[in-house]
Amino acid sequence: MKRAVFLDRDGTITNDDNYFSSYDQIRFVDGLAESIRILNGNFLVILITNQPVVARGLCSEDDVKAMNDRIIEELDKQGARIDGAYFCPHHPEQHDDVPEHAKKYRVECSCRKPGIAMIEQAAKDFGVDVGNSFFIGDSTRDVQAAKNAGCTSILVMTGLAGKDGKYDAVPDYKCADLREAVSLVNDCANLKAVILAGGKGERLRPLTIETPKPMLKIAGKPILEHQIEALKRSGVNKIVLCTSYLSVKIKDYFGDGSRFGVKIEYPEEPEGLGSGGAVKNSGEFLKDASYFIIINGDSMIDEKFDLRPLIRCHIRKNVFATLFVRESDHPMDSDVLRMDENGKITEFIGRGQVAEKLANTGMTVCSQELLQYIPDGNCNIEKDVLFKLIGKKDLYGFMMPKEWFKKGVDTPERLESVRMYFGD
Ligand SMILES: [Zn+2]
Repeated sequence: MKRAVFLDRDGTITNDDNYFSSYDQIRFVDGLAESIRILNGNFLVILITNQPVVARGLCSEDDVKAMNDRIIEELDKQGARIDGAYFCPHHPEQHDDVPEHAKKYRVECSCRKPGIAMIEQAAKDFGVDVGNSFFIGDSTRDVQAAKNAGCTSILVMTGLAGKDGKYDAVPDYKCADLREAVSLVNDCANLKAVILAGGKGERLRPLTIETPKPMLKIAGKPILEHQIEALKRSGVNKIVLCTSYLSVKIKDYFGDGSRFGVKIEYPEEPEGLGSGGAVKNSGEFLKDASYFIIINGDSMIDEKFDLRPLIRCHIRKNVFATLFVRESDHPMDSDVLRMDENGKITEFIGRGQVAEKLANTGMTVCSQELLQYIPDGNCNIEKDVLFKLIGKKDLYGFMMPKEWFKKGVDTPERLESVRMYFGD
C-alpha cells in the first residue's frame, strides 16, 4: 500500500479559486513544480477537484480533462509527477438558466467533495493507504472530505483560505501555502522512531538470560513487534532500533524490517550507554529527521494504540518535546509529572507521590534539537536529559486516551499481569 498526497486544484496549486474554463487562465502557485518533486520521493500525488463549471455549462468534461492533462504535462516538463487526476463535474442544485446540455450534471452525487468517491476511486486505482495519506486544500469542503476519508488534513491560506464557511471541520494542520504544507508533509514522512531495546532486563531473569526483554512474547509475538505494528499504523515506517544486549536475536528476527513493511536501521552500539547514550549514538541516523519519537522497547501496547494524535500535537505546537502522559494506576513507582492548563510540563515530581497521578509513559516526540542536550557517556534519556530541561525548554504533555493499553514490562509481576490481560 502506498501513501498519497491528495491535492485540491483551484486555490491550492493555482493562485485563484475562480472557475477556470481554459488552461490559459491558470496561474500556478510559486514553487509548484519543486513542491511536487519533493512529494514524489515518498508519495503518490493525486489531484482531487470539484469542477462544477461543467454543471454550469461553461465547459465540457472533455475540456476539464484536457485542462488537467495539460497541467500534468507542464509539470512533467519540470520533472514533477502528478500520478492521477479526478474531478467531479456535478452540482446538486437545479437552475432554470442552465443550458440544456449541462442539465444532466445537475444531480446529487457521491463524488463532489466533501463526498469521498474520488478518493475511494484513486485508492482503488493506485492501492493507496488512505489513513496514512494527506489531503491539502484551501476550503472547509476539502478539510471535511479529508475527515470523511480518514486522511490527515492540511488547510492552506491561499485561495479561499478556509473562509468559505461551508463546514465546521477543523483541519489537522494549517499552513500558509502549498510550499509550507509540503514541507510539513515531508517532515511527517521523514519522522523516525528510535526504539530503546538495549537493556539487560535483569529484573526479569531467568527469562532474559537468552531472550532480550523486548523479544519476550505476548499474545503470540514479541513486544517489539507490537510496537512496530503500531508505528506502521501511525504512518511511521522508518525505525532506528537501538540494541546492545543479545542484539543478534533482535536483528535476526526483524532484519531490515521489510517483512513488517518498515525500514529498520541498527546503529553500532557499545555496551552500557543507557537510554540517553543510545539516542545520542543514533544521531547519524536521525540527521535528516526534523522530528523523532523515542519509545522504550519494553512497553507493551495494544492494537488501539495510535501515535498520530501525539505527532500532530507536537508538530502543531512546534515545541522541544511532547511526552505521552497519562493517569497512572501505579503512581508510587511511576515518573510523576506536573502539567499546567495549557499542557506545558512544569515540574518533575518523581516517584512515591500518591497524591499526583500524571505519569510519563516513556514515549516522547522530540525535535532534532534534543540531540544537542544529551551528555556524552552513560545517561538516562528521561531523568538526565528531558526532566532536567523542564522549565528551560518547552516540554508539553499529551494525554494518552484511557482506553488504550500500555504497560512497561520490567518485572515478573508486570509481565504476568500483561500476559493475563492479553489472555496468554
Ligand atoms: Zn460528482
